[in-house]
Amino acid sequence: MFDHGSTPPPPAPAGGLARARRSLGEAAAHAAHAAGVDVAPGAAADIGAEIAQTITALEQVKYALCQNLASFEKAGGLAGSGYGRLLDWITHTATMGRAEAATYARTAQLPEALDETTAAYQAGEISLGQVEHISFYTTKAVQERNRTEWPQEAPLARKAEEVLLGLALAESTTCADIATAGKRLRARLNPKTHERDYAQRYDMRGATFVRGPDSEFHLEAWGDEVSADQLQAALEAFGGPPQPGDTRRPRQRLFDQLLDMAEHTLRTSGQLPSSGGQPAQVRITVPLEALRGIPGAFPATSDYGTVYPLSAVRAAAKDCVLRRIVTDPLTGAPLDVGRAKRIFPVQARIALLSQVTSCQWEHGCDRPARWCQIDHKQPWWEGGTTDLANAQPLCRVHNLEKEHRRARKHHRRQQQTRQAGNLHHPPGPGSGGEPGGGKPPGTGIGDPPAPPGPDHPPG
Ligand SMILES: [Zn+2]
Repeated sequence: MFDHGSTPPPPAPAGGLARARRSLGEAAAHAAHAAGVDVAPGAAADIGAEIAQTITALEQVKYALCQNLASFEKAGGLAGSGYGRLLDWITHTATMGRAEAATYARTAQLPEALDETTAAYQAGEISLGQVEHISFYTTKAVQERNRTEWPQEAPLARKAEEVLLGLALAESTTCADIATAGKRLRARLNPKTHERDYAQRYDMRGATFVRGPDSEFHLEAWGDEVSADQLQAALEAFGGPPQPGDTRRPRQRLFDQLLDMAEHTLRTSGQLPSSGGQPAQVRITVPLEALRGIPGAFPATSDYGTVYPLSAVRAAAKDCVLRRIVTDPLTGAPLDVGRAKRIFPVQARIALLSQVTSCQWEHGCDRPARWCQIDHKQPWWEGGTTDLANAQPLCRVHNLEKEHRRARKHHRRQQQTRQAGNLHHPPGPGSGGEPGGGKPPGTGIGDPPAPPGPDHPPG
């Protein structure tokens, strides 16, 4: 279709690419037309092969344009353009993403010594992406060479090309393989530069964790390749590839991996050097009325000032350490602070995990049970007992999912009750006549909740 491979472009007068643009316009129309035609039964494989061939043809156009770019730069086209580098010129003039513009610029600036790579590309033996990678790492090797050992550029360029092109010509070599080989080559040829570049990337390391005004947050981190390896290995410990039926987006899975890592840290933080033997915890003060979803209840609030919605506080209140704080109903000042006690004692947890091995989500989940939270099938604040018959492991995601669903149902019911004209507080779901009706709402860190036992959860 586009036979540009063997014919070099003529020295282009202005407007010399007009014919190419016309042909491309026609090509686009043909491709669009082909996309609109119904695929005949059994023809999909042939169509796939045609698409692949057309993409290769498109790469040849791209390569030819890169040669145009090279002529443009050589002819001083950048002078007076306001851009010092071809990469910047392409990025802004062709309004292109930086990564794609870099592909054009690197291919346009292919070192002259790489004639074997060019020939291999023109013979269809390697892809344009592979050419770009060979060019990039050969150029780097030449620029950073030890000039005592390699006074001339050309011999080293040929040596680097031999290694990288040899690899590219082997079957099933990816661009990532060439990148790894290129980095190894750079490290071998100039370990000092390699060390210096790494140190620079490490010095540039940083992270931001911003909590926004609308209760949202933003986390970002950047740095060097060694730190990236450590982070990736840790994240992979908290989740493998997606399982069938997992509908989360990749970014949601990464988020869940990060949060699982955080939860694991909180659970085991008693062993951390700076913890003084005390596990780090998120402390939430929650009136019992709030857990029961009673309208007008004083909302649950963490020590960080975060106000928790019903679903989140219920999810957090399952497998936690509970401490009763009695506060003055008028001032909110703590009057009595009870003993801290785990809702599910360690022994119950061990017994449960010996019976089930994974998250017990109703639609199936392969999260190992040892990473799960212990869920009361019937919540303890609704009278559910803390025993094995009422317990099941649920992973963090499904524990939240369960509570999101329950909260939606709860709020819907509340709305229906209001619409029915019943403006009186309905009793909390399952609450046995303990609606806290006559009490004023709390004004401080927590209402005096009335947990069904002194200092400890029901069991
Ligand atoms: Zn699960």
